[in-house]
This record gives sequence, C-alpha cells and structure tokens, in this order.
Amino acid sequence: MGKLFRLGMTLLTVGLLMTGCKIVHQSEDPAFRMKAEEQQQYASGKPSPKINPLLTQEESDKLSKIENKHIVYKGPKGKKVVALTFDDGPDPQFTPQVLEILRKYNVKATFFLLGQRVQTYPHLVKQELDEGHIVASHSWEHKYLPNLSPEALKEDLKKTKDAIKTATGKDILMLRPPYGAAQGIEELLKKEGYMILNWDVDTLDWKPGRTPQEILDVVQKQTSEGSIILFHDAGGNRSTTVAILPKVIETLQQQGYQFVTMDQLLGVRAFHNE
Ligand SMILES: [Zn+2]
Repeated sequence: MGKLFRLGMTLLTVGLLMTGCKIVHQSEDPAFRMKAEEQQQYASGKPSPKINPLLTQEESDKLSKIENKHIVYKGPKGKKVVALTFDDGPDPQFTPQVLEILRKYNVKATFFLLGQRVQTYPHLVKQELDEGHIVASHSWEHKYLPNLSPEALKEDLKKTKDAIKTATGKDILMLRPPYGAAQGIEELLKKEGYMILNWDVDTLDWKPGRTPQEILDVVQKQTSEGSIILFHDAGGNRSTTVAILPKVIETLQQQGYQFVTMDQLLGVRAFHNE
C-alpha cells in the first residue's frame, strides 16, 4: 500500500513539474510568442489597418504582411537578398573605414543614426547618402524610448529627424529604436510617421571581447533570405567590426546573396520627400 502511494505521489509530482515547465516555456520564450502571433495574422488573412500617416496604403500593406506587433524583424522571403545595417553612428574614426569597405565591394547599406552625432558630423551623413547608402533614425542619444513620456519621445524623434534633414535635406521614414525597444509605444511611433525596423541577425559586434570569427559564425548560421543583419559603426571601439566586414561580405556573396538597402528590401520609400 505504502509503495503504491509513493508511486502515485511520484507520478503526480512528475506530471506537475512537466506541466509547470511547459507553461513557463510557452510564456517566456519569445520565439514561441512570435510564432503564435504570426499564425494569428495568417489566419485573419487581412492586413492591419494603416496607422502611419506618411506611408501609402501599398507600403502599409507590404509591411503589415511581415510585421510582428508593428515591428519588422526581417524582409520578405523569395529573393536571395540581405540588408547590412549599421547603428549608433556616425563616428569620425570608424564610419569612414566602414564606408571604404562598402565602396570597395560596391555594397550598399543602411545607417541608423543618432541625432546628436548627426549634428556633430553632418559631413559623414552626407557622404553616406552620396555613396548610395540609406540613412534612418536611431533616436537622439540612445535613450530607452519606452521609458520616455509621449512628449519627450516625440521631441527626441523630431530633433533627430530635423538634424538629418539639416544635414542631408531628406525627411526620413525609418526608425530603429535603441535596443530594438518599442514595447507599448509601437502605435505612437507609427502615428508619428515611422516604420519600426529591427533585425533578425544580431552579430553582437559591440560586445567587449567579441572575436571576428564569432561574428562571422553568427552571420553564417543565422542569415537567410530577407535577413536584416545588425552591426555598429560607432559607440565604442569598432575595429573588430571593421576587421571582419570584408570577410562577411565575401562569404555571403559566395553563398549567392545580394546586398540591398532597407527600402529595397521592403519595397518601400526611405524618405518622405522624394
Ligand atoms: Zn544602438
């Protein structure tokens, strides 16, 4: 009798533990959440309504097909193209080195800029555009945007947009929030006229001690059709990024990938005034 009781208790404990694990796993794993939402979106079969006043209906529809909670993490599948993106610039030391490599390989990229640095180094932003790259906003000074009041947030973004306009004459439409963080402010950002563009391949090139080989490994393992690859050309010593960038480009080219800017990847405009 005692034996049977112990067995029963053991089975019950194992059962409870398994159920517990499953619940924790489902609620905490972002990959699982994304899948469920994607399924829901597919099931509804219709694009979400247009919120962004600066986008055309066509642009809005294109984005809503690939967005997850208003955020783009990856371009559409079907073409062997990828987008290289560089955050936190411009930087007087590393941005020219990145531009030189991109020029050498005739690769176009997208730069997500900090307004404060745009104001300090406008000539580098101008050079990025002149050499065929696309520029976009990464906020004024890299604050965690969800913590700002709506007024402070709008002010931060407007200052950045104005700085880019002063430097280049362009009205930007694209935003990558610092840390990719847009929880709770997705709709506000859209209403302010921004597409929210994050990434699916994180090279973690900013991490102290990160080796060139580790960066290359991540790119090789995680890149697929439509990938958005995250690098940094500022915000610290970026010599590792500069050192491995040629090899990253060569490796992806050997795999048949072409490099496109974010507007080309998504089939939308990068600027409002063109
Ligand atoms: Zn950043």
